[in-house]
Amino acid sequence: MTTPTIELKPSSHPLSATERERILAGPGFGRYFTDHMVTIKWTEGRGWHDGELVPYGPLSLDPATNVLHYAQEIFEGLKAYRQPDGSVATFRPDANARRFQASARRLAMPELPVETFIEACDVLVQQDKDWVPAHGGEESLYLRPFMIATEVGLGVKPANEYLFVVIASPAGAYFAGGVKPVSIWLSENRVRAVPGGMGDAKTGGNYAASLLAQAEAAVHGCDQVAYLDAVEHKWVEELGGMNLYFVYGDKIVTPTLTGSLLAGVTRDSLLSVARDLGHEAEEARVSIDQWRTDTENGTLTEVFACGTAAVITPVGTVKSAGGEWTQSNGEPGKVTLKLREALLDIQRGVAEDRHGWMHPLG
Ligand SMILES: *Cc1c(COP(=O)(O)O)cnc(C)c1O
Repeated sequence: MTTPTIELKPSSHPLSATERERILAGPGFGRYFTDHMVTIKWTEGRGWHDGELVPYGPLSLDPATNVLHYAQEIFEGLKAYRQPDGSVATFRPDANARRFQASARRLAMPELPVETFIEACDVLVQQDKDWVPAHGGEESLYLRPFMIATEVGLGVKPANEYLFVVIASPAGAYFAGGVKPVSIWLSENRVRAVPGGMGDAKTGGNYAASLLAQAEAAVHGCDQVAYLDAVEHKWVEELGGMNLYFVYGDKIVTPTLTGSLLAGVTRDSLLSVARDLGHEAEEARVSIDQWRTDTENGTLTEVFACGTAAVITPVGTVKSAGGEWTQSNGEPGKVTLKLREALLDIQRGVAEDRHGWMHPLG
């Protein structure tokens, strides 16, 4: 099947530069969207077709559209950063494209070719490049590719029609007033994903499953939920939107990908960045008892979470029904901050890109 070309049908009335600059002065996260979006259709027997860049706007869907009932949906998240010379580059779009294919397989959806995924992101960023924040800070343009089942009907089966869409949203610095640790609620009765389930796919259904636990965390005064494995309720998995790292002095350890947690691109990148900086970095199973005991005996010196949106977030207080403890006196740890700067420096183009992660545009 041939790769579709993306036809450019830009808006005749993009937002004025003044309005755009006003938004870019304080974009927050996921609140404003750029002038355009890319859409590509898939139909059984025909494959991918009708790729186009069009003005950002509502999708028109029949109320019986499959995704609205059975949640056959997957998504991605990646960022474009302004480089020192004023150009723009995205971070590891090929890794997101491959994960999008893996998610598609899990949800019985068609796989978008890697080059088409990257081209769709490139075309949108190129068109809306004035929306990429200035170089130097942590601001970026967040890209949200997603795919939905668009067949109309209430039959339960893989759909015969899909829509792939990419939208873009300027993202401000995650920590406006300096990096601050998040508090974690350890959910011992709710699970995010089960073995054989879809915990390793990036799909909205996993997020729907996590909202109640998130609300319970808020009741306990916590910012985020940490999930344990669904079988033994013993092994630490992830935060439901971010992966976890445990810092043992000079060594960093992240939970092994057992199939029920998501393979984060940030998680993977940090294994390499840490080794480049002379740290040992490994994947291992970490139990909840070990988390607590090693914190109390002082061997576990820092804990942080990582993901595209916040890059790295230190973990401060951890609360569970059985008690509460605090990492690194509630301050961001040294290794945490060092890794955060090192990864951000690659992304904003001020450190050597020795793994070829940056994908320049134009
Ligand atoms: C997206 C996501 C992450 C983080 O992945 P990155 O590729 O680093 O952004 C972690 N866990 C879940 C469940 C996610 O959906």
